[in-house]
Amino acid sequence: MPAIPASLRLANQAAILEQLLRRKATNRAELAGVTGMSRPTAGKIIDDLVNGGVVEEIALLDGQRLGVGRPRQQLRLATDRPRFVVVELGVQWTRLSALPPALPEHEQWQVEFKTPSSADSWLERAIQSAGKLSVKRPWAVLVSTPGVVDERASRVLLSPNLHWSEQADLPWMVRQLWPAPVGLVQEVLALALGEIGTRLDVDDFFLVDIADGVGGALVLGGRLYQGPLPMSAEIGHTRIPGNERVCGCGGRGCLETLASERGLIRSLSESTGQGTTFADVIRAAENELPAWMRTTLDAVASCVGAGLNMSGVRRAVLVGRVTELPALATDYLIAAIQQASMWSRFDAVAVAMAPKRRARGLLVAAIHRFVMPVDWSARAVSRSPSA
Ligand SMILES: [Zn+2]
Repeated sequence: MPAIPASLRLANQAAILEQLLRRKATNRAELAGVTGMSRPTAGKIIDDLVNGGVVEEIALLDGQRLGVGRPRQQLRLATDRPRFVVVELGVQWTRLSALPPALPEHEQWQVEFKTPSSADSWLERAIQSAGKLSVKRPWAVLVSTPGVVDERASRVLLSPNLHWSEQADLPWMVRQLWPAPVGLVQEVLALALGEIGTRLDVDDFFLVDIADGVGGALVLGGRLYQGPLPMSAEIGHTRIPGNERVCGCGGRGCLETLASERGLIRSLSESTGQGTTFADVIRAAENELPAWMRTTLDAVASCVGAGLNMSGVRRAVLVGRVTELPALATDYLIAAIQQASMWSRFDAVAVAMAPKRRARGLLVAAIHRFVMPVDWSARAVSRSPSA
């Protein structure tokens, strides 16, 4: 076989990994077919990925035919040992897991602690927790981070709900725990990456997270849309007329101050004089929708509808606290978003409630950033145990 230039080899490798990210299992012939490569070209890359521990080959019995089944080689992202550490730096909780390259079916976290209010105490708690994970030298550590995050510079520019992270050198802190490259992933972008490929043929959607804050992420053609600025789809900081609440971003009247968990609790307590938890908010909407909640859901729908209209996308995926509200509230919100989207005059607009797939999204980012750019034909020879 003639020598293949390194850049082409990496592009081919990326194409194969992209396909593996979208399938639970596949085989050599299928991978060569969908990527348009020759069997030997694809085969060589797959061999290197298998030798490197990125991909594994499993023998499946062909079909259910009694007695005549013959083993068939299937390929998938490796499941056998943890290679990455994924970290959720949340406003309330920090969670950690050591995971293999295979994307998890269900969200799972191996260690968690309450996020402290300073960088020093966070590092202290993280050091205690890191020892509990079953990996000592991960290939990389991916950290989901709230706020406005400059992923390229690995810096948090603004974090309205976790201000200490703005001054902290997060990659340096994480390297005190593991000697590995560190990648920051803005938390809503991580959720959107986790959603890609979970539904067949859905490559375009607007994901909205309504939780501690309110954030958005746009996926077009199966890829995250990232604009020229280190922020995009920030619908939580849209000014809502008539709302005078001060926002952590420094603005006033942002959607987030109404629709976030805290915003909903505040509206409940302002309207009834009682209610201090999200469970109270849920109870308040069980039998009828209070007027303040209707107003807030209308504001959410206007912003999400504007996002759909502007991006030319007909599917919204809602995650976070909002999915825990009673059907009365979620049904109202879904209908209001559909109404606010102009495409509903022509055809269906889908609004789905989904679980958070943050660990999955961090692993997708890990494969994009730390597996695709590596030449595994060189790495495979010096394969060293990582655990
Ligand atoms: Zn704001």
